[in-house]
Amino acid sequence: MSEFRKDPLRGTWVITENQRIRQPREFLVDRQHPTLTICPFCPGQESKTPQEVFALRPGTTKANEPGWRVRVVPNKFPILRIEGDLNRQTSGLNQSMRGIGAHEVIIETADHQRSLAQLDIAEITDVLIAYRARLLDLRQDSRFHYLQIFKNHGIEAGAPLPHSHSQLMAVPIMPPVIHSELNMCRNHFLTSGQCLICDLLAQETADGRRVVSNDGTFLILAPYASSSPFELRLFPLRHNHDFALQNDQELADCAKALQDMLRRLYRLLEDPPYNFILHTTPPIHSRVSKPGYWETIVSDYHWHIELVPRLSQTAGFEWGSGFFINPLPPEDAARFLRATDPNLSF
Ligand SMILES: [Zn+2]
Ligand SMILES: [Zn+2]
Ligand SMILES: [Zn+2]
Repeated sequence: MSEFRKDPLRGTWVITENQRIRQPREFLVDRQHPTLTICPFCPGQESKTPQEVFALRPGTTKANEPGWRVRVVPNKFPILRIEGDLNRQTSGLNQSMRGIGAHEVIIETADHQRSLAQLDIAEITDVLIAYRARLLDLRQDSRFHYLQIFKNHGIEAGAPLPHSHSQLMAVPIMPPVIHSELNMCRNHFLTSGQCLICDLLAQETADGRRVVSNDGTFLILAPYASSSPFELRLFPLRHNHDFALQNDQELADCAKALQDMLRRLYRLLEDPPYNFILHTTPPIHSRVSKPGYWETIVSDYHWHIELVPRLSQTAGFEWGSGFFINPLPPEDAARFLRATDPNLSF
């Protein structure tokens, strides 16, 4: 019999099917692989992107020239633009503001051929160092209420360019998904004095059925109320509300766990399309407009990465009701991924 399950972090319900055990091969996706004549993210093509805002490169090389390991540029076709004020307007029941924000592309490697899963730990650490640098910089702009870092891998997950990259959107409105998660964490702290995610990690580690891997610094978990097959979350075991406060060693530990997660998926599901999203604290200035609102965030929130492989389409019932139907219980997903060797060489 299927069951309704509630996600303790989102507060939403999913329907978990468990009529029969499904095999990973039932979820394989036919991937499209675009071919490009000239890739604007490749070394030597720096003039085809806007001027870089951050790069990791030897001191002997110049900005906007080859030699970089990671390069961050504004999106050439940004959905949101950084210049101007918000110009909030109300017309009857309708509200609007201008499309102010920042939209940046983090080019994760100079190598056109390799995806993030195929990079080594030092290279992935460089990507995370770029995330941290851009968060710390854009936080200074008080117009932005949230900075969302995310990755689309594969056309099926919204990445038309094959060269491995992630994106950052700085937005003037707190995204509802983040807002709801922050509220769940805050409410749990106010009633129990504990971090919701620390409590969740203790419970899941003791249970063990949904743990994919635990290296002593990071935990990879198939969430109890996964909304789709092989959904995963990556948590630092040490409590911290803010990804941008991680030191280089902590980022290297995170890179190791992220590589582990991506390689298990790569092996088991043959390089599936996926999205991942970094969930971390909002900029501090957004707490000022609501006195007391994020007062306990240092203790009540716990940053993490959420990953969803794009293996199926969302249908009418899901869109209309918000109840996702997951045909693969997370206990099975975790078991399959635990049995997958992430250390095979590429
Ligand atoms: Zn390229
Ligand atoms: Zn915590
Ligand atoms: Zn989250």
